[in-house]
Amino acid sequence: MLIFDNIIETQNFLKSQHGKSIGFVPTMGALHEGHRALVKKSIAENDLTAVSIFVNPTQFNNPDDLKKYPRTLEEDCKLLEEAGCDVVFAPSAEEMYPNLPQLKIDFGFLENIMEGEFRPGHFNGVGIVVSKLFNIIKPNRAYFGQKDIQQVAVINRLINDLSFDIKLVVCETIREKDGLAMSSRNRRLTEDVRPSAPKIFQSLVIGKKLLLEGNSPFIVKNKIEDFYNSNPEFKLEYYEIADFETLEPITEFDKKRKTALIVAAHLGGVRLIDNKVF
Ligand code: AMP
Repeated sequence: MLIFDNIIETQNFLKSQHGKSIGFVPTMGALHEGHRALVKKSIAENDLTAVSIFVNPTQFNNPDDLKKYPRTLEEDCKLLEEAGCDVVFAPSAEEMYPNLPQLKIDFGFLENIMEGEFRPGHFNGVGIVVSKLFNIIKPNRAYFGQKDIQQVAVINRLINDLSFDIKLVVCETIREKDGLAMSSRNRRLTEDVRPSAPKIFQSLVIGKKLLLEGNSPFIVKNKIEDFYNSNPEFKLEYYEIADFETLEPITEFDKKRKTALIVAAHLGGVRLIDNKVF
């Protein structure tokens, strides 16, 4: 496995691999089984797999969140080597941004809901860094997790609107045995709050059940808000019931259309997100 921190060297190496298909997994490191599943899928589908590890400062709207984001490069490289990854690209912020980008990307409606609403500027940062990474790695396929459902919509838009010749591959959410979606941020959950963490997934399971029983999205959202209020260790940011295709919030549930339940909540000062599609 080759590890690069330099853009030109990474590009030169990948250019020298004429004709090989490249699968790309962008990450912010602190890797876990969710990331490993993306890497494994890429390895199965491509001649070469490249993983980027970069905690992108421009997608953090909260400086404290950026400061506390776990960084475990050595462990990450071990996991990637074991998984069979070929290339790691782990640049510094200076390498990626010798000058702060002036370009702004506006994802329209997606900017005003859920992650867009609660993390202003987040998707602009994601859009710019992923575009840069696509131009550096030039992959045939890019692997993203369904856990970040709105990010998937944003990347889809980016690929279509900018005509990147890249196939977006979306991978299912990998969970702990108790249902908690794996996340780099889970490392920051302290022992006293960790037992409560599966309640986030439970709130999605309950929401689905209530909808299938005929409750309206409005009623379901109220009941879920009550659920979080009765678990005061949580601070609910949003719980949305949306059309899976458009991510637009729905007011009526239609069993024939795919629906997404999407949640963001803080637990012990750690921001967690999850979703369920059915
Ligand atoms: P991150 O390092 O959190 O930016 O995530 C890098 C990629 O891994 C993103 O495409 C995430 O959606 C994906 N990912 C994160 N957690 C999981 C998980 N539990 N299951 C599957 N994919 C995940």
